[in-house]
Amino acid sequence: MSVDIKKNILILRQRIASAANRSSRNPSDIRIAAATKTVEPERIKDAIAGGINIFGENYVQEAKEKISDLRFQISDSRAKWHFIGTLQKNKVKYAVHLFDMIETVDTALLAVEIDKRAEKKMDILIQVNIGGEKTKSGCCEGDVLNLVKGVAGLKNIAVKGLMTIPPFFEDPEDVRPYFRRLFEISRDVQKEGIEDVSMTELSMGMSNDFETAIEEGATIVRIGTAIFGKRENKKKT
Ligand SMILES: *Cc1c(COP(=O)(O)O)cnc(C)c1O
Repeated sequence: MSVDIKKNILILRQRIASAANRSSRNPSDIRIAAATKTVEPERIKDAIAGGINIFGENYVQEAKEKISDLRFQISDSRAKWHFIGTLQKNKVKYAVHLFDMIETVDTALLAVEIDKRAEKKMDILIQVNIGGEKTKSGCCEGDVLNLVKGVAGLKNIAVKGLMTIPPFFEDPEDVRPYFRRLFEISRDVQKEGIEDVSMTELSMGMSNDFETAIEEGATIVRIGTAIFGKRENKKKT
């Protein structure tokens, strides 16, 4: 039994369009970042054939293998790669060459390291721990403005917006206040008019709750399961 990736993408696009219409938004303002942890290059190629052009990876080493593999196989690939995992400082030197955007910057130290290692401007999002959960990365909401101000002046950093992984709820309605909060924080930072900072991207929403996220202003939804099917827990530690 194989998962029909192209069909899943079609269904996903329809659901995105409906959510956009419900909230009087233009569906083309919402982009899909396919979350591809544990997904092998063959299936990523199917997603590319289905029109996906942004991919999110959680692990630098895994991404490195796949990205070189795919670039070898697909010479005209216009795929963009977003880092969406927890970035260790010692992996930054690889990450800056592999990724087009790092969505998970949550400390000034990490931003400084990216600035130092990157050879050109790196697009970043500030990850916000909107639920204040101890187990999750992200800066706490009260620190967002200071962090943005602190990194805005770095030569090789371009702040493009915010990202969050809210607490998990079965019912996406329960997540709505968290998405709404991220939108408000983004608007508040925007109002400050900080030089070289644009708050155009809001990366929020996953397979279980992307429609709610879109209704609350998401511009990037990170979708794994709804495209590729259930992940197998193949990583043994
Ligand atoms: C795996 C992952 C996703 C996608 O999750 P699904 O529920 O499979 O859509 C999104 N964001 C991050 C940071 C992830 O690690």
